[in-house]
Amino acid sequence: MGEYLIKKVEVGPVRTNCYIVRKKDSRDAVVIDPGAEITVIRDALFKMDAACRVILLTHGHFDHILAVGDLKNANTLVGIHKHDEHFLTERDMFSAMLPYDPRPFEKADVLFDKEGSYKVGSFEFYVIPAPGHTKGSVCYIFDDIMFTGDTLFKNSIGRTDLYGDPQEMEKTLKMLYNLPGDYAVYPGHEGPTTLSDEKARNPYFAKYRVR
Ligand SMILES: [Zn+2]
Ligand SMILES: [Zn+2]
Repeated sequence: MGEYLIKKVEVGPVRTNCYIVRKKDSRDAVVIDPGAEITVIRDALFKMDAACRVILLTHGHFDHILAVGDLKNANTLVGIHKHDEHFLTERDMFSAMLPYDPRPFEKADVLFDKEGSYKVGSFEFYVIPAPGHTKGSVCYIFDDIMFTGDTLFKNSIGRTDLYGDPQEMEKTLKMLYNLPGDYAVYPGHEGPTTLSDEKARNPYFAKYRVR
């Protein structure tokens, strides 16, 4: 499947999926959503013989970002959508439940603001803004692989009642439904799926299906 090796580790109290995306022809790796448990993430990087060069965040909720400060070093670039950047330094409403909240961070290195191809470090990927679960939620596309964060899950979607906006989510879902082609989908929680399977079965896409 393309030019990348992908490994998932589940981290933290709400079992967030953290993905390591390593190039097959180099040690360079992207880590998507290092939410907690830096030792688990480091161990996975070690076993893949990978070096984290880029950290990409699908959105700013605590369970996706709290190991950024531990993982980042002088050779790491951090990217997030500009509308979720504030989560890097502001505690959110859930962090009071946490025994340990290692904020604040330094600023992000790259702020995404619109759909398109981005080059960060040696990686090229496509960013689709996907507001709804949070204002600055995005999907990242590497070849035919889509990382959907808490926007799209297998058979479900992310909640919009806390920081989210149901109307924005509706527009995002319609946009995802109308994307041409197919993608392997790696969500922010639970198991993988494909965009075509979700188009066919996800109840939140039902209204867009041709009857
Ligand atoms: Zn979330
Ligand atoms: Zn989450």
